[in-house]
Amino acid sequence: MYSTPSYPQLFTPLEVGHTTLRNRVVMGSMHTGLEDRAWDTNRLAAYFAERARGGVGLIITGGYAPNRTGWLLPFGAKLTNRTEAYRHRVITRAVHEAGGRIALQILHAGRYAYVPGSVSASSIKAPINPFRPRALSDRGIRRTIDDYARCAELARFAGYDGVEIMGGEGYFINQFLAPRTNRRTDRWGGSAENRRRLAVEIVRRTRAAVGADFLIVFRLSMAELVENGQTFDEILTLARELESAGVDILNTDIGWHEARVPTIVTSVPRAAFVEFTAKITAAVGIPVCASNRINMPEIAEEILTRGDAQLISMARPLLADPEWADKAATGRTDEINTCIACNQACLDHAFQHRTVSCLLNPRAGRETELTLLPTRRVKSIAVVGAGPAGLSAAVNLAERGHRVDLFEALDRIGGQFDIARRIPGKEEFDESIRYFTRKLDLTGVQVHLNTRVTAAELIDRRYDEVVLATGVRPRIPAIPGIDHPMVLSYAELVRDGRAVGKRVAVIGAGGIGFDVSEYLVVDGHPALKPDEWREEWGVDTDDEQLRGQLRAARPAPAAREVVLLQRKDTAFGKGLGKTSGWVHRAALKAKGVEQIGGVNYERIDDAGLHISFGPKREQARVIPVDNVIVCAGQESVRDLESELIAAGVPTHLIGGAELAAELDAKRAIEQGTRLAARL
Ligand code: FAD
Ligand code: NAP
Ligand code: SF4
Repeated sequence: MYSTPSYPQLFTPLEVGHTTLRNRVVMGSMHTGLEDRAWDTNRLAAYFAERARGGVGLIITGGYAPNRTGWLLPFGAKLTNRTEAYRHRVITRAVHEAGGRIALQILHAGRYAYVPGSVSASSIKAPINPFRPRALSDRGIRRTIDDYARCAELARFAGYDGVEIMGGEGYFINQFLAPRTNRRTDRWGGSAENRRRLAVEIVRRTRAAVGADFLIVFRLSMAELVENGQTFDEILTLARELESAGVDILNTDIGWHEARVPTIVTSVPRAAFVEFTAKITAAVGIPVCASNRINMPEIAEEILTRGDAQLISMARPLLADPEWADKAATGRTDEINTCIACNQACLDHAFQHRTVSCLLNPRAGRETELTLLPTRRVKSIAVVGAGPAGLSAAVNLAERGHRVDLFEALDRIGGQFDIARRIPGKEEFDESIRYFTRKLDLTGVQVHLNTRVTAAELIDRRYDEVVLATGVRPRIPAIPGIDHPMVLSYAELVRDGRAVGKRVAVIGAGGIGFDVSEYLVVDGHPALKPDEWREEWGVDTDDEQLRGQLRAARPAPAAREVVLLQRKDTAFGKGLGKTSGWVHRAALKAKGVEQIGGVNYERIDDAGLHISFGPKREQARVIPVDNVIVCAGQESVRDLESELIAAGVPTHLIGGAELAAELDAKRAIEQGTRLAARL
């Protein structure tokens, strides 16, 4: 308990059911992949315990199926018998010993199950899954309700404080609720009341099975963001019925997996959907939990102060920083390693069936393996380059007790992140620079800005180790006319803020080519203006009769005419993130960015960019543009390496300096952290 918390609402305990939560911070459910294999239970326990020690009020586990047909994946996580339940005791004990509370999420995948033989309300295939479900019989439905109740009983046996019943995101229960997926004509379909029956019955049976002194949280789909979803009126009625059936807490769920409106990527404004939660809060007498793109205590406190919700759920922010709650409670907000909502090591991993971690905190999910213990021999270490790789190495080395000098050629830290943060929709990247600035200070790293250090200087200073994190420089392709004044590198355009005309060609359609195109077509920062953003994507928070809370999108006109080019003739944006790439592709389409693949760059002159196509370059075209921006990948900067090695200095290369291909901040930060753990 904190005596004078910095955020009084966030750190006021909450009495709910027969339980007291020590504060309003809920760690939302996130499937880590560690749930699926019995031998990973100790890792999972360590992962949760670290968050409980960090002050979280209530943890919700990843989803466990109540029966085999509810499996998300073959042999995925399920809780259906006592042997499985017994294994969970190591998790519940670890969390309780750390002063936390934990609820198990029950998740039946329905037609999202990635296995043949799945079931749903009706036999309608999901657009994101090749397997067609079969419609469950009346008997099958009754059995499934029993399975939910049994799963909750087992969770209680395993020592959990409660369960969360997943009723959103387009999973099984949601498939019964929405006319989009429920075409039944029996008592489980047709009218809204019939569609609600499954959800309400599951809660009623679960409450009867577990008794009064066990938390039941229901994850309620408050904005479905798909055609023919529920109306908000129907959702309000459902919320009231769930309360009467025995739910203790309603948690917010936004958007089905198949929705084409982004709900959690970094370009979604913070707390963009809290209006929906506020309306539910006003309609029920039980605590409601807000969620989606809430990552800092100020915004959490605002939501609670307005009375829009009584609890705040965060999943990814607690991956990024397990001590989030403690830091917020003790006025150390500037020490929070803020989740930038990139999805790169969490959701992208989950969708690739890899264990979840965090781009900013590679220890997440690896608590037992990647440890940063105090060093037994203090060394004097130079880190060259203050991009993500150098920063993570420097702060972790210093935290372990080494003496660290960090050299940066520019007048600020961040490296390429200092460019990324200027892209509309990537404003969160600012937080990482703030975090590292503070962490350098706290760990006592000696930072030397405006210092392009040479090998001779490093040799002179007799460091025990030198870490080269000198990163990358933009590749300048050998196109005739590349030195024409109309040509700029992405760094000149974005970091140096060079002015460009109304018609622009972008050479290279990798992650940076896409970001630069957005920079060129988007005026201002819609991610900072929720109303503008909702217009852009067609989200309606007012009309309670509208199915799926969707209306026609009204994107703002593009600020420029942009042509994005690549030499490959494959689809554009193939290499972008699994869970975020579609958002970038949709955003450029909405702004009318022309995409031309399979091109050869012939030359650049006053007329513009000359390209040709075809195996023999037989077709030619001139793109009349005012500027050409080069985003053609990068090359490693490793000028210092050979001299240092020749002088016998122990030298380590990390991040872009080690390898420019396939570089991203996830690799850069992980390499920096792992090296720091080793030295
Ligand atoms: P860098 O970031 O290049 O840092 C190297 C640093 O070393 C620089 O600050 C440089 O000035 C300094 N330096 C070089 N030589 C010397 C010297 N001799 N002395 C002193 N200092 C020196 N990645 C993602 O994972 N996700 C994204 O969403 C993402 N978006 C991006 C958007 C844009 C617009 C850009 C440009 C990049 C983006 N990236 C993204 C890529 C990511 O930023 C890089 O992968 C990452 O910054 C590489 O880190 P690094 O530390 O290896 O190198
Ligand atoms: P990239 O993804 O490798 O893309 C480079 C682009 O340049 C490609 O489209 C390539 O396509 C083109 N190219 C390469 N050599 C060329 C040449 N000689 N002449 C002309 N075109 C050439 O690299 P990036 O866009 O620079 O991004 C760097 C890293 O940052 C990426 O690995 C990415 O992961 C990361 N990043 C990630 C995000 C994100 O949202 N996750 C955003 C930005 C950056 P063709 O060869 O077909 O022409
Ligand atoms: Fe947040 Fe990115 Fe880390 Fe996921 S990987 S928790 S989105 S910072």
